[in-house]
Amino acid sequence: MPDRMIVCFDIGGTAIKGAAAYAPDDVRAFERRPTPIHDFGAFVETLRAVIAESGDAPGCISISIAGVIDPDTEQAIVANIPCIHGRPLGADLTAALGLPVIIANDADCFAIAEASIGAGRGHRAVFGAIMGSGVGGGLVIDGKLINADGGFAGEWGHGPVAATIAGHPPISVPSFQCGCGLKGCIDAVCSARGMEKLHHYLHGETFTSEEIIDAWQEGDLAAARTIDVLVDIIASPLALVINITGATIVPVGGGLSNSPELLAAIDTAVRARILRSFDRPLVVPATCRIEPGLIGAALLGLRAIGRAP
Ligand SMILES: [Zn+2]
Repeated sequence: MPDRMIVCFDIGGTAIKGAAAYAPDDVRAFERRPTPIHDFGAFVETLRAVIAESGDAPGCISISIAGVIDPDTEQAIVANIPCIHGRPLGADLTAALGLPVIIANDADCFAIAEASIGAGRGHRAVFGAIMGSGVGGGLVIDGKLINADGGFAGEWGHGPVAATIAGHPPISVPSFQCGCGLKGCIDAVCSARGMEKLHHYLHGETFTSEEIIDAWQEGDLAAARTIDVLVDIIASPLALVINITGATIVPVGGGLSNSPELLAAIDTAVRARILRSFDRPLVVPATCRIEPGLIGAALLGLRAIGRAP
């Protein structure tokens, strides 16, 4: 008898969200559980408890993680969950649970969700961008996730590329240190925390990214300057991503995507810097806004058992 369902997870440093997925539009979420970050045995038991709660026999387990599977070593790189960091997580979970295990980066899950049932539907090349606590992304071409076996494709947030002279009129901006070890990453200056650092550098004021965006919307000149510099810095690397991948839509998720005005400003700047001309917005808010990690993991798992296109 063919498998009729899968169990999917969105695993972060704070909570494990689980769901039973029977079809792309039939994903039944369970109550979230705290993530055991230091005890791998307890981590496995938490997954096992969710599988038991489904009351069914999953064809596989599909997991979205806030990290990456190293494509060379198959080890998980998940800094905020020490008990899985450095483990061959797929093999260890397969052995512990006795089920096939699919693991994907959360930005990749977001991208597959947007490409399949979100703003990217109908597009051959979808670049899903995350702008929030970090800057990341995932690439889906012809419905296929380019990182299906793990890896770093789509990681446009890291690399020493951020402009050090930006804005209108131009101003000098330092190459901020990034958590990845490099300096001058887009993540370090254009993530939510990056925006706060940039604002502090430009004006000596400490505000949250939400406060900066709200102040910009209310006509505050200092906030407007921060947004002007940030948009100038982020637009060039994103334009290059679009030239390279041929993406015809860039759905954006993460906290900063809650401001349609910010995305519109980025979209205008990006479209002025790419080779192809579009007479419609290219950088758009994601439409799959509730649990995109869980939905993306559900889609990857359902595809693996032949229950999703
Ligand atoms: Zn970095």
